[in-house]
Amino acid sequence: MVPSAAATVDPRLQAIRNFEGKYPRQLWWLFLSEMWERFCFYGMRGVLTVFMTERLLMKDDEAQLRYGAIQAFIYAMTFVGGYFADRILGFRRSIVWGGLLMVIGSFTIAASPENLFYIGTSFTIVGTGFFKPNISGVVGMLYHQGDKRRDAGFALFYSGINVGAFLGGIACFELGDAYGWEWAFASAGIVMIFGVAVFGLTKHTLGPLGFSPFVPEGTAPTPAARNKILGVYGGSLLAIPCILLLVTNHAYTDTFMYVVGPLALIWFAMGMKGCTREQVNKLVVALVLITFSVFFWAFFEQAGGSLSLVARNHLPTEKLAGITITPNSVNNSSNSLFVILLSPLLGLLWLRLGRREPGMVVKFAFGFFFIAAGFFVFSRLSDYAGPNGVSSLMVFSFAWLLATIGELCLSPIGLSAMTKLAPQRMFGIIMGLWFLASAYGQYLASLLGAGMAKVPETASPLERLRGYTDGYQQLAIYALVCGVVLLLIAPWARRRIGVEE
Ligand code: GLN
Repeated sequence: MVPSAAATVDPRLQAIRNFEGKYPRQLWWLFLSEMWERFCFYGMRGVLTVFMTERLLMKDDEAQLRYGAIQAFIYAMTFVGGYFADRILGFRRSIVWGGLLMVIGSFTIAASPENLFYIGTSFTIVGTGFFKPNISGVVGMLYHQGDKRRDAGFALFYSGINVGAFLGGIACFELGDAYGWEWAFASAGIVMIFGVAVFGLTKHTLGPLGFSPFVPEGTAPTPAARNKILGVYGGSLLAIPCILLLVTNHAYTDTFMYVVGPLALIWFAMGMKGCTREQVNKLVVALVLITFSVFFWAFFEQAGGSLSLVARNHLPTEKLAGITITPNSVNNSSNSLFVILLSPLLGLLWLRLGRREPGMVVKFAFGFFFIAAGFFVFSRLSDYAGPNGVSSLMVFSFAWLLATIGELCLSPIGLSAMTKLAPQRMFGIIMGLWFLASAYGQYLASLLGAGMAKVPETASPLERLRGYTDGYQQLAIYALVCGVVLLLIAPWARRRIGVEE
């Protein structure tokens, strides 16, 4: 995601990057577009498994496997979307194109959830792939190389993500539950129109940023360039039936996951050729972090799968200060609320620690310790349940608080670690791998969740809940082990990274 050489010397770009104050003003527009996009994404994510079990009448394990495949393909497509934006479309076209596909996807499902669910979802998968990685790429471009304000910009952007996720997680679920699931998808579609509109109406403020490398600003595309661009649009439309086939067939999903990871690693290894010894050392550490992140997401992403079903079937609706709080809204949105509240505090903590601030590998280890604590608390839900299998919303929310601290020690740290550990020319590949790790995490999460849902047909509600809570205990142990391993290898990693950490 490197701006072209011509763009770097453009005085308008200099003007953008020489902004005064804490944030460039373009960041607020990107914040708003991404906020609406995440509303759509997390709004849909939060209803999927419940919709699949209650409206498509799938069993819990089947719903989780399908859900996991959908989420895995979404993250795998960000790899593709980032690649084509860099090389052919440019960021502007990619974001608008991806946003439009997401709008079409949401409305397609809303039109007939029973019949058009998978085809609509396939549009959304491809659309998110073009939108998500590229809008973050533009944020990075608003800053000069060494600008210290970059991290604050990304932190603000991460809050935008979570404001959208918070609102979408509540609104789509509550609308869908009260008026029918089509309303959940329709509202996601309407909101996504805002996301595309905000970007479309404000992209002129980005000066020379985000144009296709083949079509310099203010020029009409040559026939060759037009063919390339149309080729990407056409190719992404053709990808939709392929994704449809992959998502609806477990065996194909499995094969895809077995093949893509090794291919991406080979591509990465080839990219490493020509790197200095020092660069290779850093890239090896990046690869270790990426590998561990797969496990982290496999635990964390129980959110939209098994935890969504636990919330639906094993938690009560409660009233807080006169407001009705439903368990699925808590499951969908408490994490985002905690991110918004806690991320400034964590930022302050790192600043306070100064020279004693832990390195990235140790922060990752803490990410695992906190998520282990979160899953340990989730695993206690069955202790608080009555014979009807209904447990405590308070305990559930507390577990989310712990898991969110874990997320904050790992997710934003990992993103910025990638940009620190990769040489500039491998930035695209490394970001692609980072998101591909989320795809694998989602896939693994669905396998783990489906395993927990396998209880005999005759099982009582409490026994069903125990299936999940026993599983969460296992996940807590795995997470703890990951954290310990990371602590043990931290000195080795530090030596490889050198002093700049
Ligand atoms: N919650 C973050 C987002 O939605 C990170 C997700 C991920 O990388 N798996 O952007």
